[in-house]
This record gives sequence, structure tokens and C-alpha cells, in this order.
Amino acid sequence: PVRVRFAPSPTGNLHVGGARTALFNYLFARSKGGKFVLRIEDTDLERSTRESEEAVLRDLAWLGLDWDEGPGVGVDYGPYRQSERNSMYKQYAEKLLESGHVYRCFCSNEELEKMKEIAELKKLPPVYSGKWATAADGEVEEELAKGTPYTYRFRVPKEGSLKINDLIRGEVSWKLDTVGDFVIMRSNGQPVYNFCVTVDDATMAISHVIRAEEHLPNTLRQALIYKALGFPMPSFAHVSLILAPDRSKLSKRHGATSVGQYRDMGYLPQAMVNYLALLGWGDGTENEFFTIDQLVEKFSIGRVNKSGAVFDSTKLRWMNGQHLRAIPFEELSQLIGERWKSTGLLTESEGPFVDDAVQLLKDGIDLVTDSGTALSNLLSYPVHATLTSPEGRPIVEDKLSEVSAHLLAAYDSGELFGALEEGPAGWQKWVKGFGKTLKRKGKSLFMPLRVLLTGKLHGPDMGSSVILIYKAGNHGIVSPQAG
Ligand code: GLU
Repeated sequence: PVRVRFAPSPTGNLHVGGARTALFNYLFARSKGGKFVLRIEDTDLERSTRESEEAVLRDLAWLGLDWDEGPGVGVDYGPYRQSERNSMYKQYAEKLLESGHVYRCFCSNEELEKMKEIAELKKLPPVYSGKWATAADGEVEEELAKGTPYTYRFRVPKEGSLKINDLIRGEVSWKLDTVGDFVIMRSNGQPVYNFCVTVDDATMAISHVIRAEEHLPNTLRQALIYKALGFPMPSFAHVSLILAPDRSKLSKRHGATSVGQYRDMGYLPQAMVNYLALLGWGDGTENEFFTIDQLVEKFSIGRVNKSGAVFDSTKLRWMNGQHLRAIPFEELSQLIGERWKSTGLLTESEGPFVDDAVQLLKDGIDLVTDSGTALSNLLSYPVHATLTSPEGRPIVEDKLSEVSAHLLAAYDSGELFGALEEGPAGWQKWVKGFGKTLKRKGKSLFMPLRVLLTGKLHGPDMGSSVILIYKAGNHGIVSPQAG
């Protein structure tokens, strides 16, 4: 059975790179009818925090990447925090010591430093000299009796190579002569990261390890431990880096990189998921719009690209617009209406005014958070207020004199607002008559009218805009900030 895992270290926020790794694991599990496991890698006790763990879990949940097993969910292979699995690590470390794959190393830090210096002088790789690898039992007994602290060191074969078949990168191989015996347990009994991961993946019956490319050197060491413990090796897939537009590794200096930041900026989880999937994956067609269910249906690990993927925040924004407009209208209207109300732009979050405004403005925005500016932009030139205020009237009088003179007349006679009161049909009729009187049509009629009535050269459908502006002013819907 397919069992994959996402194994975040709770030392910060969930970044787009981690989120993509989680997503690929999720899609792989769901497309194969397998299980998606969440394991918290909190061996670094100083840097790991519960707040960070909670934040990462919350962000994953927000993205809709629900897990089958993890802290507090499903217990078959738990516990799911490394800090709670120490006895298991200890047990396997002892097993390796018994089988001779691991030996006790009594070297002090000073000794190890010296070894490095000597290796450097001899122009040899900076690896452990193997001093305790071949020590006689008597020597070991002597140190134990003295109480000298020791680490558990893994005996790496000194020749030959190790290869894995990576599902994304194909064959990857390492020569073993430069690897050097590595520590799996510190002198204070604390197990080392690579060892924990191997024991966890094996005992959690993980079938596929899908993770970032930067873990390749760990894979080598982990594969050696698998063999030594006699565990069946999982399949590996190493996903390439996410790059900034300048092709350097994406980092904070390139702008927002955490999932939470995007959520706070108003991005939709479905757009994030869609965009993250496209970082290194495509279904082979031109299509780029996918819901999470469609991704599950189409995803295949073999289609994941092995070269780095560039994170393009402009495209992510565009993608958000695509998903925003894919939301059923009623839901979208509610979403935007609530935003308008919560930001104090409107006093009501629903009703015909909200619906009309959403209908009019939705095509011009990519983010829910843009909707506030879009609305206040539209309403910042309320025709009613402009035509009635002593400062506003001269602006209109000056501008585009012929059209404005007639417009003022239509205002003064009550004809314009009478028409607007009737809605779109009333507006259509009025505009037609107005054009006839002026002997203008097309651009020469609509451009000046748009400027005079909305204060802008461009915008969404003029009739709907003007009606909305009129209604806003007339029904007192807009709070003072917007006017
Ligand atoms: N805890 C590691 C990280 O945060 C993940 C290691 C793995 O997936 O094996 O990068």
C-alpha cells in the first residue's frame, strides 16, 4: 500500500517550498488510494516550538491538504512527533551496535578537530579517520570503565557505490569511499536527524519518500541505515528547488514566501494549491487551471520536472483571479460583501446593492482584498454629490462643455436620476435620447459621459457603474470613508 509522509520541522512558518512538497505527497497519496502521514520532526529541541507546529498544521489544513495520520489523528504508527519516539531510536541504535554496523567512538571534540586538520594537510576528504572502527574489545572496555563519553558511529563500507532509482531524477549514485563514518547518536543519547528519519520512515511503513532535492545527501546516509537494519528500501523522489525570478534560491528577500502571508493578503487556498502544483508539474496540455480534485485525478510523479521551477508572484495573482471568478456567484458575493462590511466600506454585507457591485467589479479584480479599492474607487466620484456640491458643480461645468451643459440640464430637471431610478432599462433609454439631442453616439458620446459621471476614463460597464454610484449615494449605503 502507498504510504507517504510530509515531515515538517516546526521551527518557523510553512513556506511555499514546503507546501509544494506537502501537496505533491498529498496528490500522490490520493491518486493512489494511499495514506498521507504527517510527522513532526522536532528533534532540534531548541528551535522547535508548539506554536510553529500549530501554525504549520493550520496552514496545511487551510490549503485543504488533510492528513490521514499525524499528531492526534490515527494512532497505528504513532507517536507522530519525533520527540516522543526516543525509546524507539534507542532500541534500533542498540540493534545496530549488536550487529556491528555501529561502533562506539570515544573521540573527544579536540581529537576530531585535529583529525580534520590532518586530513586537510594531507589533502584528504574531511571524514572520520576510523580510529575506533577497529578498536579491540579491551580498549573499549577500558574507556567504558573510565566513563569516557562516546557517540554511536555508523560503519560506512569503504569501497563500492550506492545507487537509488529516483522517480524524478532517474538513477542517482554515490561512491562510498569519501562518505566517512557518521554519528547516529550523540554522547548525550540524543539520536541524530538522519537516523531518526530512517527509523521513522521504516517503522511508519512509508512506501515513497517525496521531498526536496536538498535532502539528497541525507538519502545516501539513510539508505545505508535501511540496509543495515534490514528494512525494505522505500522509493525516493526528490523534487527540485523553487527559484526566484533571478534563478537564485527563493528566499525572504524576494518578498512573501510563507503560505500564511499569502492567506493574509487575501489569496484563495484553491489558487495557491493550483499554482504550487504548476511549480514543476503540468498535465502535458496547455491547461493550467485545476481544482484540487482535478489535480488528484491528473497527477503523476513521473511528470514532475527535475529542473528548478521559478516562483512568479504575478502569475500567482493572475491565477487567484481565475479561481475567484470560478466561485459560484452567490458565494463570491457573500465573500466580497463580508469584506466590504468588515472593512467599514458598507454597512450591510448583502443585498441587491452588494450583488450589483460584485457583478460589476468582479472581472477587474484578482484578489478579494482588491475589492475594497475597486468599490471605493468607483464610488469616489459620486455623481449625486458632485452635481449637488458647490465645489463639484464647477468641475462638471468646466469639463467637456457641450455634454456637461446638457448633463446639468438633465440633472436639474430630475430627468437623469429619474432614469437611474428605473435601473438599466431606464438608463438605456435615457442615454439614447441624450445622444440624439446632442447628435453624438459611440465614443464621442460615451467618453465624455463616462468622465462626467464616473470621474474616470475607463472602468467597468458604464450604465451599471452609474446606477450603482447613484444608488450608493441615494440609499446611504456607503459609509463616510467611501464617499
Ligand atoms: N524535516 C525535514 C525538513 O523540514 C524533512 C525531511 C524529510 O522529508 O525527510 O526539511
